[in-house]
Amino acid sequence: MKALSLQNLEKTYANGHQALKGISLDVEEGDFFALLGPNGAGKSTTLGIVCSLVRKTAGKAHIFGIDIDKDFARAKQMMGVVPQEFNFSVFEKVEDIVLTSAGYQGMTEKEARPRTERLLRDLGLWDKRDQQARMLSGGMKRRLMIARALVHNPKLLILDEPTAGVDIELRRSMWTFMQEINRQGTTIILTTHYLEEAESLCRNIAIIDQGEIIKNTSMKGLLSEL
Ligand code: ADP
Ligand code: ADP
Repeated sequence: MKALSLQNLEKTYANGHQALKGISLDVEEGDFFALLGPNGAGKSTTLGIVCSLVRKTAGKAHIFGIDIDKDFARAKQMMGVVPQEFNFSVFEKVEDIVLTSAGYQGMTEKEARPRTERLLRDLGLWDKRDQQARMLSGGMKRRLMIARALVHNPKLLILDEPTAGVDIELRRSMWTFMQEINRQGTTIILTTHYLEEAESLCRNIAIIDQGEIIKNTSMKGLLSEL
């Protein structure tokens, strides 16, 4: 089963800039996949289309066989998304942010409470559960976004530059957490501009540059070429 399949995605922004020039890509269920490329390559645009934050100009996207144009609601249930920008209310309390999201995803409070506690504990945020999100450090906010993205137990976790601006120690603990989630069966796709990050985590990789995939291979295959 393919967790994600993209066919000839194109995006031209309103200002005429062609950010994607025909992206095709398959990610198998269970994979830990990196979309690697320099700033401005089109990584966020690609993920933005998948989670419906960006309107595509042309092409097709399927999540576990579901066409996002035909049944986005069902596709959305399958995925958890961690965007680069914080997009929760900073005056809401940490635990409530995760619980509210669980509610949107149709979970009952009885299901949501233990799941939220588990995630906040695993991500080192349980002590902060009653604090407003504005009190959190940048790295904590990022982990809160990961907890929120995982609360409904999605089959696919999408992270846009998950460790950007995070110090090396926290980066390593986030890597360990993501590896554990993947080991438990969640497919993970992340974008990064650090080859080192992709190398440490990912089995397969696509390199994107100026809106085109210039390489799509296993991590081992890529390293043997360097
Ligand atoms: P769409 O074509 O998806 O409707 P728009 O081109 O209207 O997107 O732009 C969406 C938003 O992104 C606008 O608020 C715009 O100001 C902003 N934006 C414009 N240029 C850039 C850029 N180069 N990088 C990031 N954001 C931009
Ligand atoms: P990456 O995530 O790889 O850094 P992006 O997908 O954010 O790349 O951006 C791809 C290209 O599209 C860049 O040249 C960026 O400036 C441009 N871009 C991104 N968002 C917008 C927008 N809303 N309007 C116009 N251009 C944009």
